[in-house]
Amino acid sequence: MNLRKRVAIVAALEDEIAQILSNMTVTDSKLLAGRQFWLALHHGREVVVVLSGIGKVAAAITTACLIENFEVSHIVYTGVAGAVSEALNIGDIVVGTRFIQHDMDASPLFERFVVPGYSNHYFDSEPQIAVNLKEASERALMDLVNLVRLEGLFNLRSAQVHSGTVLSGDQFISSSSDRDRLRLEHPGALAVEMEGAAVAQVCSDYGTKFGMFRTISDSAAEQAEKDFSLFLGSVASHYSAMIIKEYLKLC
Ligand code: SAH
Repeated sequence: MNLRKRVAIVAALEDEIAQILSNMTVTDSKLLAGRQFWLALHHGREVVVVLSGIGKVAAAITTACLIENFEVSHIVYTGVAGAVSEALNIGDIVVGTRFIQHDMDASPLFERFVVPGYSNHYFDSEPQIAVNLKEASERALMDLVNLVRLEGLFNLRSAQVHSGTVLSGDQFISSSSDRDRLRLEHPGALAVEMEGAAVAQVCSDYGTKFGMFRTISDSAAEQAEKDFSLFLGSVASHYSAMIIKEYLKLC
């Protein structure tokens, strides 16, 4: 796979990629659809970096703008997510291989979760990008757990990398009943967030390669708001910066 062209790096929120934004060398920037797209050099690679904003529509607009205007070889989305699977803990990394819009429901006209006009209820990431993101995450994790300063806030020493299904919807999931419903409706799903499956749908329409990794910031239950805010402000951007650094060596 020739991925030596410009890599797009996208997140919803500034805090999720603050370190990347402050360390890259910006060569140019463009304002489109109210978003600043930064063309930059990062670890020797040409990248375009943008904040999509929160939610499926914001993510879809951003993705279409990126593909139409910046000759991207592929898109890597990053950020934080809530844990759906019991197997996940705060600080774990999830590489998305499959994406489902958990709030899509045009039943009885269409099967639940199927986006009308598509044959499946899911969109997949590009397999090689997912493999590279997993490898990059595993390499970065060794350095991340050594950051003693971070370990005081969350127990990151046992953090793990998982690959699998990510759910996206226009809801911040912060109750155990909503989280348990997602578990029942999507057995095996790992995490929930608000953008990934929209980016995956747009990339599928354009035939653009796409991958995503997210760090678990909260349990998608009652503590979610508190944990999310603490994680976002203190840990999230270390994860994205270190994983992207490793990823750019592999792709
Ligand atoms: N408080 C923020 C809003 C955060 S929305 C603000 O004021 O700007 C949550 C963001 O993190 C979304 O981009 C979503 O993708 C991700 N996320 C993290 N935990 C989540 C959860 N439990 N449910 C849904 N999205 C979550």
